[in-house]
Amino acid sequence: MKVFKFGGASVKDADSVKNIGEIIRACDGNLVVVVSAMGEMTNLFEELVRHYFRNEEGKWQIFKQAKSFHLNICIELFGSEERVPGKINSLFRELEAHLQEPPSRHYDYEYDQLICYGELLSTTIISCYLNETGIANNWVDIRTCLKTDDTYREAKVNWDDTNLLVSESFNFVDTNLYLTQGFIGSTIENSSTSLGREGSDFTGAIIANVLDAEYLAIWKDVPGVLNADPKLLPATQMLNELSYREAIEMSHSGAKIIHPKTIKPLQNKNIPLYVRSFLDPGSEGTVIHNVDYILELMPVYIIKQNQVLITLSPVDFSFVGIGHAAKVLKHFTGIHVRVNLFQLSAIDLNLVVDMPENGIENIIKELAKTYEVKYNSGLEMVTIRYYTDEVIAGYTKGRRVYIEQTTRRTARIVLK
Ligand code: ASP
Ligand code: MG
Repeated sequence: MKVFKFGGASVKDADSVKNIGEIIRACDGNLVVVVSAMGEMTNLFEELVRHYFRNEEGKWQIFKQAKSFHLNICIELFGSEERVPGKINSLFRELEAHLQEPPSRHYDYEYDQLICYGELLSTTIISCYLNETGIANNWVDIRTCLKTDDTYREAKVNWDDTNLLVSESFNFVDTNLYLTQGFIGSTIENSSTSLGREGSDFTGAIIANVLDAEYLAIWKDVPGVLNADPKLLPATQMLNELSYREAIEMSHSGAKIIHPKTIKPLQNKNIPLYVRSFLDPGSEGTVIHNVDYILELMPVYIIKQNQVLITLSPVDFSFVGIGHAAKVLKHFTGIHVRVNLFQLSAIDLNLVVDMPENGIENIIKELAKTYEVKYNSGLEMVTIRYYTDEVIAGYTKGRRVYIEQTTRRTARIVLK
């Protein structure tokens, strides 16, 4: 059997849904299809959560917006409002009833109880549409079998329960096609949970692992994995083949190809991952798999923008040492700010972090209680795998370099 994963961009409107229908129709044999919320719906649901949590009436405006977005797609797919399947209307009624209830004081919990509607709606719509067009399929509520702990918004998979329940639910006894949601799961008490933003890739990998899939295919709007983000660097090239290790390095450095947690469940069972284009389903794409030979790769660029360089020195001119470093890193983990690069000299500790949503000022104020602090914002960090001196010189030409760190295969440069 195979697993296909379709992200938000591949189901952003009625035509896209029809397109993935054709891709699914063309696949022979047993298949599980994992789908994300449509288009930018998860962002809209995040906004809905914020309004709901603050008890703001604005929540109804957002609810209406989400409802009409889905209904318009349904009208195009099913022909008229009257023909929209009852299951879809029930989901809206359920969501509406939820919004009428007052929220608890646990934001992350409330987030997961609402965010799941994006995936529940998209998969219900697509499943009904496929059934109508002769592609018979069973819809599975993944929350009945993908079990997690209760770390809401970053839930950890309970592999024992998930193994058992996923094998039971996707048994291919009376269908050869299942449709289910990415990104969400539930606790043993059946509260909804989510696996972290963009987590649908990870869901695909979990299902592939449990069912020993022949492969997982992630369908995207790019031809495969490229050696740079085409929006940031022109003249990007396709990488036809990558090792699991390379894919982990790339996604960890911030490449937005696949969710970083996706590789491990596949690598553990030696299941290949294909990254393919839903716009050009006939093309090969990139395969990520077990490679026991040396791959000669071209330089791969992973660019992160909106970085902040923070330099800390103890006020009394004492050495910073590893103890200080450990404390500072722990502090950043605690406040959910990701440290992308880190460098220690005798009296300076340099950190490069993603600019937090609410700005950096409060964090700096806090650090200034213990350290002398300097910082620069609006920087870029580029990770170049398989760099050469010429490649670095070409990239940094005419720009101000703040930090350059090179190891055997990887260069990390912070620059303006
Ligand atoms: N819909 C979720 C998100 O946008 C999950 C995903 O797309 O993988 O984060
Ligand atoms: Mg998405």
